[in-house]
Amino acid sequence: MYIRCTAVQKELPRIQNYIGGRFVSPIGGKYLDNIEPATGQPYSLVPESDARDVEAAVEAAETVFPEWSRTPAAERSRILLRIADLIERDLEKFARAESTDTGKPLALARSLDIPRASSNFRFFATAILHTENEAHVTDGIAFNYTLRQPRGIAGLISPWNLPLYLLSWKIAPAIAVGNTAIAKPSELTPMTAFLLCEVCREAGLPEGVLNIVHGTGPEVGAAITGHPKIGTISFTGGTVTGRKVAEAGAPLFKKISLELGGKNPNIIFADADFDAAIAGSVRSSFANQGQVCLCGSRVFVERASYEEFVRRFIERVAQLKQGDPLDPETEQGAIVSKMQLEKVKYYVELAKEEGGRIALGGERGPSPNDRCRDGYFFPPTVITGLPVACRVNREEIFGPVVTITPFESEEEVVRYANDVDYGLSSSVWTQNLSRAHRIAEQIHAGTVWINCWLVRDLRVPFGGMKQSGVGREGGEEALRFFTEPKNVCIAR
Ligand code: NDP
Repeated sequence: MYIRCTAVQKELPRIQNYIGGRFVSPIGGKYLDNIEPATGQPYSLVPESDARDVEAAVEAAETVFPEWSRTPAAERSRILLRIADLIERDLEKFARAESTDTGKPLALARSLDIPRASSNFRFFATAILHTENEAHVTDGIAFNYTLRQPRGIAGLISPWNLPLYLLSWKIAPAIAVGNTAIAKPSELTPMTAFLLCEVCREAGLPEGVLNIVHGTGPEVGAAITGHPKIGTISFTGGTVTGRKVAEAGAPLFKKISLELGGKNPNIIFADADFDAAIAGSVRSSFANQGQVCLCGSRVFVERASYEEFVRRFIERVAQLKQGDPLDPETEQGAIVSKMQLEKVKYYVELAKEEGGRIALGGERGPSPNDRCRDGYFFPPTVITGLPVACRVNREEIFGPVVTITPFESEEEVVRYANDVDYGLSSSVWTQNLSRAHRIAEQIHAGTVWINCWLVRDLRVPFGGMKQSGVGREGGEEALRFFTEPKNVCIAR
């Protein structure tokens, strides 16, 4: 659901597209309301761009590509490091903007989202200084070496849950290796991408290397995925949209990376360190109001400890402070949009129909303050008693809702964990090292955390199996994705 702006709201600040190093209005002159989730009110306007704006961005990106792709790695690195420094310098401004735009707690934006955006630029700025090229000697006949060259224009499409964190995770590797880029943030959360453009300009990033076109998925996103000159697409979002992206790119033989949804298991064995498992599970269930693709929305607890876990988990969750996202004490903020809030409510009602018991939460409490009286709030909700194979346990909710289910054996819980269409991440809590290795091997997920959650080393491969995606991001995987390997064979 897109909310078009009205005449009354025309005085709201306008976000602009960033094309060829200049801030520009959308060619069609149309804007959408940008709503603050904590208040439910529009607070700025975002361009409702279309294919013409994407075309202008392609021209800019194409023009500068020869120069940027030949710029020495040390120079590209220097500019990216400067971007990282400037994000750090402006951390407070970025964090407040992210919190206002998404409804996430300011404390989370300050400690996670914005520092990670800065780290993304720093990481890839330095990674390109330490690359190696493979060489293969063909006995007595030839010598081969591999050139890894930038592919041209990269299209980067990201979701609303971790706006700058995820967009910078794509922008940084794409431009670090010498591509130019056209990025489209979610139209629900465009603000920090807009601020990033100012930083890029100040850092001296040449005009046209990064272009940001704001607007909706069906217009701007589809114009990017269908553009014949944008040969590389890195997409993070829902599985249904991912399918559309794959369909648009396949006939044009684009190189596509898809980071999609999840329905991640969080498995607690009776021998786990319970204090750590409960603290970790509260985070993995409700961080960012459960709107992290890696959240463990299905909690499985070994029968012997089930009652104790449920009791202690609920005690801890009940203490989470829900409030105005801009209050630095707030631990649970607002849901990103009315539509997402309705989706969460729908699944809670469905859980009741499917035989679940609402052990905590389930309906909206009082507003945190007067400013937030029309905001999109929903309390952390814990559901027990559901069958493993019901819809609530199989479909991605992407909100502050977890289910808890007992299990009897390793074999049973592995079956439960894998019994979904998704395969993004998982957590296992146990003190038994052999068991940890056994379970890790058997789980269908791109990431298995043992006795932790969301520990992210930027060098490791990141991505999903099954309907959670295709391809990997992170470290070497990202450098390879955004380059084309070319074998040069020299006869002896
Ligand atoms: P969506 O799939 O709805 O949107 C993602 C992006 O794609 C948005 O920018 C959206 O634009 C755009 N888009 C929509 N339609 C098209 C189209 N036809 N062509 C091209 N682009 C399009 O996801 P959400 O924003 O709702 O984000 C939540 C989802 O993202 C969850 O499923 C979550 O699991 C997943 N996710 C996955 C992660 C991972 O690493 N695997 C990480 C984080 C989230 P618009 O502005 O119109 O919405």
